Amino acid sequence: MAKKQFKAESKRLLELMIHSIYTHKEIFLREIVSNASDALDKLAYLSLTDDKVGMSRSDFGIEIKLDQGARTITVTDNGIGMTKEELESNLGVIARSGSLQFKKEMEQSSSGENMDIIGQFGVGFYSAFMVSDEVTVTSRAYGSDEAWRWKSAGADGYTVEESRKDTVGTEIVMKLKEDTEEEQYGRFLDAHEISALVKKYSDYIRYPIRMEMVKH
Ligand code: ADP
Ligand code: MG
Repeated sequence: MAKKQFKAESKRLLELMIHSIYTHKEIFLREIVSNASDALDKLAYLSLTDDKVGMSRSDFGIEIKLDQGARTITVTDNGIGMTKEELESNLGVIARSGSLQFKKEMEQSSSGENMDIIGQFGVGFYSAFMVSDEVTVTSRAYGSDEAWRWKSAGADGYTVEESRKDTVGTEIVMKLKEDTEEEQYGRFLDAHEISALVKKYSDYIRYPIRMEMVKH
């Protein structure tokens, strides 16, 4: 399948993320969970005025699934989801001012200094690439029975293909980078580690966050 190219600005941000030497790469989880929460907010808001949603606040939730065999961490929400067009436009460009500001600061500061600045920004979806070789986003938008799958292994582009999904919402699969002597990405497959990160960064999230370990 032909790869589509990221917009130039996005590509540079992505490259910064992929090669980030930042030591607090764990904040990717905060970003992915906060996006899930935003998506739940959007559908919850819609459900106030649209009876067809058929869901109430207590039906919404986020799931984090750890698969040590596949070396993946999967974050799933039953929020508003994304259409094919939304997958491309929302994940293919730098949507937020925080990301742009972050990029500026990273480029301006020497590597030592940017240690402190990164955590202060909401760095967004691309932060998944600080810890992942490949990110796959499968989504079904509210009101649609189509599902689409966006996949990228980094700055050289992404693919979008038709997929299947029984329920509305979004599933993000992050294939963790291999461990190196300097960096242990595999710790993000540890349930205790992930629980601690959820507590540290996502305690304010108003939806239940469930955790599951895939048994092999
Ligand atoms: P921000 O959250 O500040 O908009 P991000 O880079 O974190 O920036 O996310 C970019 C966009 O991708 C979001 O604005 C949203 O439209 C879309 N998105 C990301 N994750 C999800 C998700 N789980 N469900 C629905 N849309 C999402
Ligand atoms: Mg975000």
